[in-house]
Amino acid sequence: MSGPLLEVKEVKKYFPIKRGVLSKTVGWIKAVDGVSFQVNKGETLGLVGESGCGKSTTGRLALRLLEPTAGEVLFEGRNIYELAPEQMRQIRRDMQIIFQDPYASLNPRLTVEDILMEPLVIYRMGDGPSRRKRVKELLELVGLSDYHGVRYPHEFSGGQRQRIGIARVLALNPKLIICDEPVSALDVSIQSQVLNLLLELQDRLGLTYIFIAHGLNVVKHVSDRVGVMYLGKIVEIADSDELYLHAKHPYSRALLSAVPVPDPESKPERIILTGDVPSPANPPAGCKFHTRCPQCMEICKVEEPVLRELPGKHMVACHRYS
Ligand code: SF4
Repeated sequence: MSGPLLEVKEVKKYFPIKRGVLSKTVGWIKAVDGVSFQVNKGETLGLVGESGCGKSTTGRLALRLLEPTAGEVLFEGRNIYELAPEQMRQIRRDMQIIFQDPYASLNPRLTVEDILMEPLVIYRMGDGPSRRKRVKELLELVGLSDYHGVRYPHEFSGGQRQRIGIARVLALNPKLIICDEPVSALDVSIQSQVLNLLLELQDRLGLTYIFIAHGLNVVKHVSDRVGVMYLGKIVEIADSDELYLHAKHPYSRALLSAVPVPDPESKPERIILTGDVPSPANPPAGCKFHTRCPQCMEICKVEEPVLRELPGKHMVACHRYS
């Protein structure tokens, strides 16, 4: 592993709330509110949090599939938000995304061969015979066979469809892949096969991943480092083992306490969070987690904690660690 491949700096995305016949902007949904992190070549950064915490929006902002409200994203040192459309189109070959629902992302009217050929045609890579050879290679890479190429997406199981989705993403030899909840729509029995495939491909092809999921158990399996998000912010980020063994932020601790432990003798304390996640259109003042935090103090209601570095490259945004 060496140097950052991707640096996300203070990125924000606010969506306007429009009302009335004139569609007047009456407020903002702060989906992502000042997120920073970096991802080194060859590593996997996990991003976790409940629905609506901004993790998928962060993934899309990292690829500029959404235009940001503020901030910078540097890919190999270049700020992608400053690139012209053609430059962006070229760089997109290196940055790809795997979606949660492979069925929705595969064109049902195309055969698998045509689906895998499409990106090669769009980017004018190779000619007919070399593209067919590449399709064969891609099918093999994801554990499918040559004869699968003539079939249509509906003829496959969920796990196989996700393999096709992965093969399509690999077609252009990307450097960075955002895996946006790639196994959450799959049966539990299939999930580990797809996760293992992603790990194998990372080893073989030197890929870098951002792995987005709502459960810490899935992320633990694949990540070198993990960032925990709450209401559009990263509240804690650390090496995977460090976070699992020594989580500091009360929200991370609550998420961890919900992860099943295989040892029947061990009965870790379950931390049940009360109340709903507040609306990102009207987040609480001070620490955004204070309305649900079992350790809330007076300062938490008025002053927002910033991410601070603790020993062991462990960063946390909580007044208890100021
Ligand atoms: Fe809880 Fe306060 Fe820490 Fe926020 S800053 S997580 S409210 S203790």
